[in-house]
Amino acid sequence: MGSDFEITVVAKTQLEADKQIGIAISEISRIEALISSWKPTSETSNINKNAGVSPVKVSKELFNLIQRALQISNLTDGAFDISYASMDKLWKYDGSMTQMPSKEAIKKSVAKVGYKDIVVDPQNSTVFLKNKGMKIGFGAIGKGYAADKAKKLLISNGVSGGIINASGDINSWGSKPSGSLWQVAITNPLNKNKAFAMLPIKDAVVTSGNYEKYVTFNSRRYSHIIDPRTGYPSQGIISVTVFAPKAELADALATSVFVMGVETGIDRINQLKAIECIIITDTGTIITSNNLTLNTQE
Ligand code: ADP
Ligand code: MG
Repeated sequence: MGSDFEITVVAKTQLEADKQIGIAISEISRIEALISSWKPTSETSNINKNAGVSPVKVSKELFNLIQRALQISNLTDGAFDISYASMDKLWKYDGSMTQMPSKEAIKKSVAKVGYKDIVVDPQNSTVFLKNKGMKIGFGAIGKGYAADKAKKLLISNGVSGGIINASGDINSWGSKPSGSLWQVAITNPLNKNKAFAMLPIKDAVVTSGNYEKYVTFNSRRYSHIIDPRTGYPSQGIISVTVFAPKAELADALATSVFVMGVETGIDRINQLKAIECIIITDTGTIITSNNLTLNTQE
C-alpha cells in the first residue's frame, strides 16, 4: 500500500502472536489487491479503465468503501474526493519547481476531478466514472480501511489488545498486558524531538502531514495536499491529527481538514460526534477541537 505496517498484539505465547500477525498481514494484502489503483488487475483499475465507457460491476466490499468515500465528500463539500487521482501532477516537492504553475494549468489540472461524476448503483453493485480520463484512488482512506479490517479480524480471533500502525496512522484496541491503555505521543513537526502531549487511546489516531513536502513561492508555503476543487495546494497547516472510532474515517478526515483549512476544518470536526482533532499551523500554533484538552505541561 506504499506504506509500512507495524503490528503489535497481546498474546500468551510468541507462537500465537506470530500466527495472529500473519493473519493481519494477509488481510491487509487482500485489501491492497482490491483497492490498489496501480495493480492492473484490481477492481479499482477496472473502474478506472472504463471511465467514460461503461459501469463496472464490483464486489460489495469495494462498492461500500466507495459509498463511504462519497459520504465524506458530501460532508466536506468535496474537500475529500477519491477522484483526485486524475489530477495532473503539477506540483513537485523534490526541489525541481522554479516557478508557480499558471492559473490556466492549475485550473486544467483538476478538470476531470469531481465526485459528483462517480455514479454508483447499489442494486447492481456497479460504479461508473462518467467522464473519460477520470480516475479514483484510495490514497487517503485505504491505509485506514485496511487497518480497521485487520483489527476487526484479530478481535474476532480473540486477540484482547493490539496496535496496527500504518506509517504513523495508529489503530488500537484493548489494553496493554498491564491493563493500562495504549498511549500516543503527539509531536510538533517544527520541533520533532519533543512530544508535546501524550494521550491515552483506544481507537484510531491518524496524522496527516508531511512537513518536508512543500514548495515556497513569494514566501508562501504550498503543502503536498492539494485542494481537488481548485488545484491549489492547501495552505496554513502543517499537520492534522484526528481521533475517531475508526481509522478509515480518521484517515479521510485528516486529509480533509488539511484541505478545508483551520477554520472550516475545526468547525466540521466539532460538529461530528466522537471525533476530535489537533491542528498545527505553519506558524507553530496548536489548535484543538472543542472536546479535547491537552495537558502540555512539562
Ligand atoms: P500523508 O500521510 O502523506 O500526510 P494523507 O494520509 O493525508 O497523506 O493522504 C494523502 C494521499 O491522499 C495523497 O497521496 C493522495 O493519494 C490522496 N489525496 C490527496 N488529496 C486528496 C483529497 N483531497 N481527497 C482524497 N484523497 C486525496
Ligand atoms: Mg490520510
